[in-house]
Amino acid sequence: MELKLTFLGGAGTVTGSKFLLEYQSKRILIDCGLFQGFKELRLRNWDRLPIPPASLTAIVLTHAHLDHSGYLPLAVKNGFRGPVFCTAATKDLCGVLLPDSGHLQEQDAQFANRRGYSKHRPALPLYTEDDASRALDFLHAVPFDQAMSLPGGASLRFLRAGHILGAATVLLEWGGRTIAFSGDIGRYNDPLMPDPVTPREADYLLIESTYGDRSHERDDPEDLLAQIIGETVARGGTVIVPAFAVGRTQSLLYHIARLKAAARLPRSLPVFLDSPMAIDATNIFQRHSADQKLKQDALHALDGDVHYTRSSDDSRVLTANPVPKVIISASGMATGGRVLHHLERYAPDPRNTILFTGFQAGGTRGAAMVAGAERIKMYGAYVPVRAEIHNLSMLSAHADRDELLRWARGFAKPPKATFVIHGEPAAADTFRLKLQEELAWQCTVPGHAQQVLLA
Ligand SMILES: [Zn+2]
Repeated sequence: MELKLTFLGGAGTVTGSKFLLEYQSKRILIDCGLFQGFKELRLRNWDRLPIPPASLTAIVLTHAHLDHSGYLPLAVKNGFRGPVFCTAATKDLCGVLLPDSGHLQEQDAQFANRRGYSKHRPALPLYTEDDASRALDFLHAVPFDQAMSLPGGASLRFLRAGHILGAATVLLEWGGRTIAFSGDIGRYNDPLMPDPVTPREADYLLIESTYGDRSHERDDPEDLLAQIIGETVARGGTVIVPAFAVGRTQSLLYHIARLKAAARLPRSLPVFLDSPMAIDATNIFQRHSADQKLKQDALHALDGDVHYTRSSDDSRVLTANPVPKVIISASGMATGGRVLHHLERYAPDPRNTILFTGFQAGGTRGAAMVAGAERIKMYGAYVPVRAEIHNLSMLSAHADRDELLRWARGFAKPPKATFVIHGEPAAADTFRLKLQEELAWQCTVPGHAQQVLLA
């Protein structure tokens, strides 16, 4: 019987991950992510899926980041009623990230309508906070490392992927074939997250390639943080950190707590976590202690003397506060969220620093600033960028090229075919060549909407 795989997202791009498997008229979707970044990509979120969501037997999520989970509310809104399988931590994190995504989309639509800059009148949200809350009822937690039977006869197993709390590599056995979906692969020897685990074998592999053409710097992140933050506050500036609520926010809090404890940063330096979502995510992180590496005392130190700003009024007060400080705020690629207000206020002043902590997808404000843009567009107007810009790639939650290869080498024998996904074209293609040259694997870089039969 035919097993068919269709790349509905995350092919030729890092966002929108959606991989459809079809067997004997049953359908399973692995990941259900939003497209982000370039406008042509974001517009794809508005296209109907080639299959009705109601026809899906089940959905499986590798992890909670929106480019892997953020389409779920729309799938439910458009008729999907089946189970969604994910790890327990992913389920908890989706409980925070998805409603927030709906809220942000409602806000953006309102904002566009008020200022009249949208070409769509009225601008509509892709889905609302309520839509997202309804989608959460379909999530089912599955433990790591246990086989689980899915409706339709498939069997599922989650392996640890590192990356962020709850992140998994998915092994799916269906119709006598095993397909591995790497999900986002994390780092080896990360202070917070466990090492990624490679499946022993699989007939087919979909492997991410976000950093497939790059190596991360090997410098000690604490040396750089001490230097960058220290210099900025010494000249009376503020450090703005656009950070993913889940993942690097907790790493940053960990490093800053250690720097303060070692008196490498002033203990009195105010640190604000200005993201209700990041505050909730940090609580979830502290709760799922078996899924990360920090001991109890280090977990408590995470939020030791961090100021939480929950309300948007407090956030605006914080924007106006002239005291040198560190503000960690979402979103990580400055595509939306409260960090925009801070950027509007702090980006034009050369005393300040904007510190990115991970991959900046093409077309995002983050990518533009890291590439040296002198101005960025937000809320329909241009904001000059004169602040110092850094991207500390060693803080990334993604494996770099060498770590991706190390992960791939963990297979006892090569998969029959490997699909290099979740990378911008240059990264995916460079990594495909690397896998062919170093491991002699059969690899292709699939295109958007491409279909393949898995023999
Ligand atoms: Zn991710």
